[in-house]
Amino acid sequence: MKLHELTIQKAHELLKQKEISSQELTQAVLNRIEAVDAKVGAYISVAGEMAVDQSKLADKAISAGNISSLTGIPIAIKDVICTKGLRTTCASKMLENFIPPYDATVIKKLQKAGAVIIGKVNMDEFAMGSSTENSGFQLTHNPWDLDRIPGGSSGGSAAAVAADMCLGALGSDTGGSIRQPASHCGVVGLKPTYGRVSRFGLVAFASSLDQIGPLTKNVNDCALLMNTISGYDSKDSTSMPREVPDYTLSFKENLTGVTIGIPREFNTSKGFDPSVLSSVKNAVKVIESLGAKCIEISLPHTQYVVAVYYVIAPSEASSNLARYDGVRYGFRDKTKKSLIEMYRGTRSAGFGSEVQRRIILGTYALSAGYYDAYYKKASQVRTLIIEDFKKAFEKCDILLSPVAPTPAFKIGEMSEDPLTMYLSDIFTLSANLAGIPSLSVPCGFSAEGLPIGLQIMGNYFQEETILRTAYHYENATDFHKIKPTL
Ligand code: GLN
Repeated sequence: MKLHELTIQKAHELLKQKEISSQELTQAVLNRIEAVDAKVGAYISVAGEMAVDQSKLADKAISAGNISSLTGIPIAIKDVICTKGLRTTCASKMLENFIPPYDATVIKKLQKAGAVIIGKVNMDEFAMGSSTENSGFQLTHNPWDLDRIPGGSSGGSAAAVAADMCLGALGSDTGGSIRQPASHCGVVGLKPTYGRVSRFGLVAFASSLDQIGPLTKNVNDCALLMNTISGYDSKDSTSMPREVPDYTLSFKENLTGVTIGIPREFNTSKGFDPSVLSSVKNAVKVIESLGAKCIEISLPHTQYVVAVYYVIAPSEASSNLARYDGVRYGFRDKTKKSLIEMYRGTRSAGFGSEVQRRIILGTYALSAGYYDAYYKKASQVRTLIIEDFKKAFEKCDILLSPVAPTPAFKIGEMSEDPLTMYLSDIFTLSANLAGIPSLSVPCGFSAEGLPIGLQIMGNYFQEETILRTAYHYENATDFHKIKPTL
């Protein structure tokens, strides 16, 4: 096996036994990026020199007997997470030249563990989108079919993992942006419980929904990254002071006694690709055969999820993105004479059309005359959605569903139709609205050979149950062993 193809776990064993060095591993990944990223377009910035320096430090630490499960391991970072001294663009012209003066907490944690930050990867501008086509800079192509989207908004992270251009990656998920690209690229992606991972240094899109999480080649690697990035942070008042378990220990228990709920409302065949339905149904059977019990449950407010999300997320975004005014940092339109013209010029030229659409929608929903009708109403319905999940988890431990109604679509196929794109988020949005953890694991392929993901949702802080289910399911299936050819 070539070095760039290794999983985190395998690379760690080889590093520990001193059969390979982090410098070799890092160089192999840099060579892989050089060889295939012209086709895929996952990276916005490759941190070549910085990464090599970090790998040398990792090798020193290893020879001194200082090794954690991530020491010397090359990790890619979605370009929405601040990295000190390394350009962080949010794939926006607005932040094209922004070099953060500080590291996000997750970056500090990765560095403390000795990980190598290999570069910053592409995304939909400010994480708004489901295809990475809204990037202000470049398209990212799905490694399984270069004519297709990798999903979004963490499309760069998912494509980089699938194409072996890193050993693992971090993404962010506001309404599905880790799980949906993971599903479309055939990798594992986890959105943790809201408050499990610090958001300090994550550029805000919708603060009550955003969460950072891992994208990896298998479930074990996902647990390893979670072990490192989770935990309370005094710099994020919404992070929870709760102990971080060793997530890999959860694999020891089998699935006997686990009750899985199948939400009745997700069982429509409207707009579904038949291969998605059959793959998810087969996955349910496999999980049952591993000892879990399956029941039907109801999430009665599912029909409102898309509407609620697309009021709340743009509202929070319109407020969060008010800071890009051309005055303090980021892009400024220097051609304008008055302050108001400068604001207008800066925001018109700095933001792409999807970001502008969200700001307009959000500003409208929050405006004095409409606040009660839209934002307040959406917040009330959000509470009902949360209640649905609380009731469901009284009866079951996990919920299973598709991640997306179809496999990856063709580049350009939906870009003129934002509403249809919004509707395709139907299965992922509710986990963010409720704040519960949710994971995508490969569960099949479409007739065209495109990967399909199974969504596993759990109760608050029950990442262990989710990972345990995903781990045993993965062990019982071969989907994760099949790789795209590039
Ligand atoms: N696709 C959703 C949106 O466009 C979710 C994005 C995300 O999770 N960042 O808002």
